[in-house]
Amino acid sequence: MTIDKDAAPTPMMAQYIEIKAANPDCLLFYRMGDFYELFFDDAAEASRALGIALTKRGKHLGADIPMAGVPVVSADDYLQRLIGLGHRVAVCEQIEDPAEARKRGGKSVVRRDVVRLVTPGTITEEALLDPGRPNFLMALARLGGSGENAAYALAWTDLSTGTFRLAESSRMQLEADIAAIEPSEIVVAEPVFHDPSLQPLFRRYGRRIQPEPQTLFDGTTAEERVCRFFGVATLEGFGGFGRTELSAAAALIAYLGKTQMAARPGLQRPERIVAGSLMQIDPATRASLELTRTTAGKRQGSLLSVIDRTRTGPGARLLAGRLAAPLTDPAAIRERQASVGWFVDAAALRQRLREALSGLPDIERALSRLSLGRGGPRDLAAIRDGLEAALAIGAMLGDDLPSELAMRRKALAALPAALLEELSRLLADSVPLQRRDGGFVREGALPALDEARTLREDVRRVVAELQGRYAAETGIRNLRIKHNNVLGYFIEVGDEKGRALVGVGDFVHRQTMASAMRFSTSELAELESRIAGAAAEALRLELECFDSLAGQVEAAADALRQGAEALAVLDVSAALAELAVADDWVAPVVDDSLAFAVECGRHPVVEAALKAGSGHPFVANDCDLSPPADGSAGAIWLITGPNMGGKSTFLRQNALIAVLAQVGSYVPATKAHIGVVDRLFSRVGASDDLAEGRSTFMVEMVETAAILNQAGERALVILDEIGRGTATYDGLSIAFAAVEHLHEVNRCRALFATHFHEMTALAARLARMRNATMRVKEWEGDVVFLHEVKPGVADRSYGIQVAKLAGLPPAVVERARHVLEELEKGEQAGRRTALVDDLPLFSAMSRRADPPVAAPPSPVCEAVAALDPDALSPREALDALYRLKGLV
Ligand code: ADP
Repeated sequence: MTIDKDAAPTPMMAQYIEIKAANPDCLLFYRMGDFYELFFDDAAEASRALGIALTKRGKHLGADIPMAGVPVVSADDYLQRLIGLGHRVAVCEQIEDPAEARKRGGKSVVRRDVVRLVTPGTITEEALLDPGRPNFLMALARLGGSGENAAYALAWTDLSTGTFRLAESSRMQLEADIAAIEPSEIVVAEPVFHDPSLQPLFRRYGRRIQPEPQTLFDGTTAEERVCRFFGVATLEGFGGFGRTELSAAAALIAYLGKTQMAARPGLQRPERIVAGSLMQIDPATRASLELTRTTAGKRQGSLLSVIDRTRTGPGARLLAGRLAAPLTDPAAIRERQASVGWFVDAAALRQRLREALSGLPDIERALSRLSLGRGGPRDLAAIRDGLEAALAIGAMLGDDLPSELAMRRKALAALPAALLEELSRLLADSVPLQRRDGGFVREGALPALDEARTLREDVRRVVAELQGRYAAETGIRNLRIKHNNVLGYFIEVGDEKGRALVGVGDFVHRQTMASAMRFSTSELAELESRIAGAAAEALRLELECFDSLAGQVEAAADALRQGAEALAVLDVSAALAELAVADDWVAPVVDDSLAFAVECGRHPVVEAALKAGSGHPFVANDCDLSPPADGSAGAIWLITGPNMGGKSTFLRQNALIAVLAQVGSYVPATKAHIGVVDRLFSRVGASDDLAEGRSTFMVEMVETAAILNQAGERALVILDEIGRGTATYDGLSIAFAAVEHLHEVNRCRALFATHFHEMTALAARLARMRNATMRVKEWEGDVVFLHEVKPGVADRSYGIQVAKLAGLPPAVVERARHVLEELEKGEQAGRRTALVDDLPLFSAMSRRADPPVAAPPSPVCEAVAALDPDALSPREALDALYRLKGLV
């Protein structure tokens, strides 16, 4: 429905329409008392998305106005669902007291305005966020047109931690760079948003791509805008940034201003991610390796879910972030590894630390809510409890720490103990969620507050006593003094007695109920106003105290952030150590070589699934792609073997071991030596990309082309069953050529699984290629998979045995065996095609081709045949029907 601004709507509707027109791409949550209401199309959309009732409120242009509402108290739940579905919500509040509007008289409506846009990348509420994942808002900037030479840059921030990073990118790297960050929302300039060549990338993020006017990205004013935000005259102190990076940073800051209105998020100084410092993993590889999500998009079943032993939200987020972006600098990797190693050795301390971390509040997110002015007493309490634990943890660590941990211990030691003291002195042990509820300042902490609270209680007691006195004075035994939000304090008596009270002394009639009457007295009104006064004074003092504490927290924000980060690092290091000890992982040697040697490697996810399921042990396997003696370049393993033999598992486990090693973790093996991998490629079982209108084969070829064009000597390439999607000889030829190219041109380390046995002959020509196969045993005509990788070539494919295991009908299996024997005999005799032509057809098929043999007619058929519909009366027809039913 379009909203006609010229028709004369009610003043409220006029206000709504104006605000809605300013926020066309958001659902508008319009505050009406205790509800947020949505109108028109928004109402229909919210009702569909949330399953809430769609009703009507008033009319507009003669038609009913559709309306849906959510209670303010439970708005967070609804917001979470809407944001999860990719919606954006503009929250419109009443920004004056309704009494003010009444004072203006006439048809004045309460002033309202949008105070915040809630978008996937800018949420800070506990209830809206996944505690275990960072929530990144990203701006993607492009300068220099849309051609090959355009410069790309990314700026991203997690509002809940204030992290603010910048990186240059390029058209080629863009997909991988964005995928490494897993942003929740990406802001792009409108012309970029409409660039056809970027559509496949944008489609991946759906509604999470937010087009904004080009002016946000304006390169000429970008530096100045960034300087203004950080309150500095020049950015030189932050390190040098390119123009495109500044454009992205300025756009991000402008977008935050637009969505957060007056609240100014506390961003850290921008940190530049240097190109090449992270392992490049493109989205298809990420998806196929299921690093942080499964192909179905779930965390459960991903590598992350299997290795995550962290105890805190910030720890889980740091681990997810590290896993999504493994390092390439061996020194930086070894530094992280040393922290894990230290915790592997310090078992007792590790346990104590992990206990201390359990239940630790999320300092980072509490801090961000407080600095955005959205914090409550619970956030202060989180800082208090977090600080206390952090100081204790800092004291727990000894002096003999590796460098990363030593630095983190310093951050913990630098935490403001005075702030903890102040918070502990002033905050009650358990506090309410909302400031306005009061009652969060500790008793005895503020004399003036205690006085106001005592006064309030004293007067309440006087009111209680008053009830006895009035009962005695009037002789009405069941006279009660009660309170509600409309009347305040009032005297209630039964109907009959009440009538007698009208006009007596000080009693003023207020309300008549079905069976009771309500009165007030000037004495009661006076007491009530004293209670209200004392309560207001108490709340005022509490809010003052809140602001002062929030101010102190804000002043200590940097130290608190660094302390929180230190706790996250400790959590991750101890968690990886815990995992290494529990699952018998080993510290890999990581260096600048081209080595890739894994002894007894395992696939952590498949191993965990086996343990939880059948209980079969996982069979560990070696893999050695290190350059042969001449040291020239890495090796290629060509792996053949039956389906279900464990080829894919073997391929992936080696890719995962490379990722884990470069994250700084231990790895599931008995020994490993990894020369850093700069790019990881994995293509395992391509699937149809129907949205793109490309077939399996096309997807496979596009992806293979990307690998052959991009992989350098430091890359690790995993290819599974390339060429499967087309005719045998085409597929075989492509697979052949791809392996040759990898060996001769890319010269990278690679694992190549195939069912084309013909390819094993390549080993004779390609010096660094080795054949390996999955061992199987045949036992009484069945195949037993040993899941063991051994040098050499598979002797057979065992397809028929696998088909039998899968439950193909026995007749089909038998027939297939027969066909196979014939084919093999024919092949030996060198007349393959001819034999296929000669082969007698499967008997069941030939039977289907035979003319149908007439079956003996059934009694029902005979009875039906005997009927003459035209000759039957309705009654006879019904009888006939009953007869027929009796026959079946
Ligand atoms: P392929 O790619 O050869 O068809 P997969 O790698 O998909 O085979 O493995 C099939 C199944 O075999 C896996 O789901 C897993 O249960 C089991 N498996 C694979 N590798 C191993 C192993 N090394 N040890 C134990 N079981 C394994």
